[in-house]
This record gives sequence, structure tokens and C-alpha cells, in this order.
Amino acid sequence: MSHKIVVVYQSLLGIYGDRGNGMVLAKRLQWRDLDAEVVNVEPGEPVPDDGLIYLLGGGEDLAQIAAVKALEADGGLHRGLDAGGVLFAVCAGYQLCGHSFTVGDNDEVFGGLGLLDVETRRGSERAVGEILTHWTRPDGTEDLITGFENHGGFTSLGSDATPFASVEVGVGNGTDGHDGAVQDRVIGLYPHGPILPRNPALADHLLELALGTKLEPIDRPELNAEHERLRQERIRIVRTTRNRAEQTR
Ligand code: GLN
Repeated sequence: MSHKIVVVYQSLLGIYGDRGNGMVLAKRLQWRDLDAEVVNVEPGEPVPDDGLIYLLGGGEDLAQIAAVKALEADGGLHRGLDAGGVLFAVCAGYQLCGHSFTVGDNDEVFGGLGLLDVETRRGSERAVGEILTHWTRPDGTEDLITGFENHGGFTSLGSDATPFASVEVGVGNGTDGHDGAVQDRVIGLYPHGPILPRNPALADHLLELALGTKLEPIDRPELNAEHERLRQERIRIVRTTRNRAEQTR
């Protein structure tokens, strides 16, 4: 059986290259000799209800509204989650998973999918730049995550959602010192990059959550070493950039 990584509505939620998250998830399964395919669905096409992982990316406000309408009309994402699929949503995708978000200078309120107990409202300033967060894995160990954020909405969590990570550099949710939210099998957060090529441990976490099993490390020492070298380099760059910004204040 081929595992389906479903990349949802690239024509609406594709302006930040978040489709790279789908490529990484499929590749990390294939490197472990597991069958995987990336399935791209566009509005008007049925969202398959047998996806292993569903991905929503970042996009502009109007596209975000259109994506909610199309997903509600289709129903496949909800069925896929009921069947045990995992949803990983970034930025606009994260916001639209919540109860509501605002759009435009008049802060018009739009309903979201209600998959995460969060609400998004226009923040005090636009959050643009590198972001570095601390993520505690299920086994209690901590990992650093780097990415790039660009959003005007700030997100507040209700009691059914748990923050995903705490922010060291950047803004994230903008309300609580955290970035992202987790609820059941849905994870939403702000960083692009895309985030999964930059943070392979997070990609493996999503796969393990979806498969319900612990995965063996990928048996490619040189590849793993290069990924780790790049990750450490990005962490260094984010921290150096932050320090420079602080010095010029
Ligand atoms: N429209 C949303 C905001 O600005 C999301 C932007 C994005 O996906 N980068 O808050």
C-alpha cells in the first residue's frame, strides 16, 4: 500500500513553497523502503479520505477564505482525519483550522474549520523574519526548530489546544510566547521555509504520529550528517541575526 501525502490546494495555499513539506514526508518514507506518493488536490477535486498526512500551506487572505469554503464543501479532509489521518498546517493553513480569523483593514471575521481550538485576529504589527522555537518531543527531549514567518494575524489558544513550541527568536502566535497549536492529530504553526526540509526531526514526528509506530533512523549517515550540519548553521544564523538587530536598537 502506498502512503498518501496529500498536498491540499497549492493554487490557493502555495505562495511560500510549503509543498516542499509533502516532498520531504514522501521522501523520508521512501528512504526507509516504505511506499509513498504525494497527491496534489485542487479546489473542485475530491480530497481523498485515505491520506496518511494532509498538508495545508500559507497563502493570502482571500485565498484562505476560498480554501475554507472549498474544504467545507468537499468534506474529504474531515473524513480523512476521522479515519486517522494527521493534518499539518502552516500559517494561513494554521489560521483556517481554527474557529475564526480576521481579514482586511476592517477586520472582517471569517469562520474556520474548527479543527483547532484557536482564534486569529490582526496583531499589533506584521511578523516578518526568521523564527527559532524550542519544541519538546513526545519523549521529553527538546529540539530547536528554525523557519521563516510572515503573517499579520496573531493566534490565541483555547483550552482544548496545546502550544506546539516556545519562541526564542521571532513572534509565532504573537499572544503567548509560543508558536503553533496541537490538538488530537492536528498540528498548526507559523514557520515556512518550508519547515520540514529544515527540520527533519519534525517530519519524522509527523510520520510516527500518522503511522503509530517508531521509525528507524534513515540509514544514510552522510545525508543525516549534512541535514544536521545545515540545521545547526541555520540556528547559528538566526541567533546571529537576532543579536545584530538587538545591537542596533
Ligand atoms: N493571511 C494570513 C496573515 O497574514 C496568513 C499569511 C501567510 O500564510 N503567510 O496572517
